[in-house]
Amino acid sequence: MRLLLVEDDEKLIRHLKADLNRAAYAVDVAENGIDGEFQGDEEPYDAVILDLGLPDKPGLEVLKSWRSKGNKVPVIILTARDQWHERVDGLKAGADDYLGKPFHTEELLARLDALIRRRHGHAGEELESAGLRLDADHQEVILPDETRHTLTRTEFRLLQYLMLHPGVILSKTRLTEHVYEGDSDRDSNVIEAYIKRLRKVLGQDLIQTRRGQGYVFGAKDS
Ligand code: CA
Repeated sequence: MRLLLVEDDEKLIRHLKADLNRAAYAVDVAENGIDGEFQGDEEPYDAVILDLGLPDKPGLEVLKSWRSKGNKVPVIILTARDQWHERVDGLKAGADDYLGKPFHTEELLARLDALIRRRHGHAGEELESAGLRLDADHQEVILPDETRHTLTRTEFRLLQYLMLHPGVILSKTRLTEHVYEGDSDRDSNVIEAYIKRLRKVLGQDLIQTRRGQGYVFGAKDS
């Protein structure tokens, strides 16, 4: 899963990015509203963390602009703790959730995880798909026989994306866009190597190759 963090507080950016990376998210950062709006329109983020107090263009305007253009990316806004009207304005403008500053990273992680799962129609506590469960706290996959396997961050991100899109043909390019940060050296051939590693854990059938098109997760017979 790849996130956009739109925030101008350098210290907060540093801490949050490290915490989010540790939680297996790929994170791009924009430090003002104009760059943030542009990146949010150009790149297929799985969620956005949007501060409202931003230089160049306020977060609320960025959000309104996205929604007016039909950009439905899930957005959590960061508001000042005592500014209840900011939360109301944000929700009215199309925010999916909010968090008052200062906040605990654990709460942000829990809200992000819930938001992304909800967006894909998963209501439970853990992401469950094609007999697999993902334990985000421990970065583990739980197989149908209850055995657990620890995954690397990239493996976790990739499997999470696959599990959220069962039965859909996913090109290597698309997978790359949701697994790697924008400024990283994105070689879509690396995806092949990661798919191979996941197959070793999950068995060969769960992720099928569609020659020249990409991969399909969880569709054994089609
Ligand atoms: Ca700010």
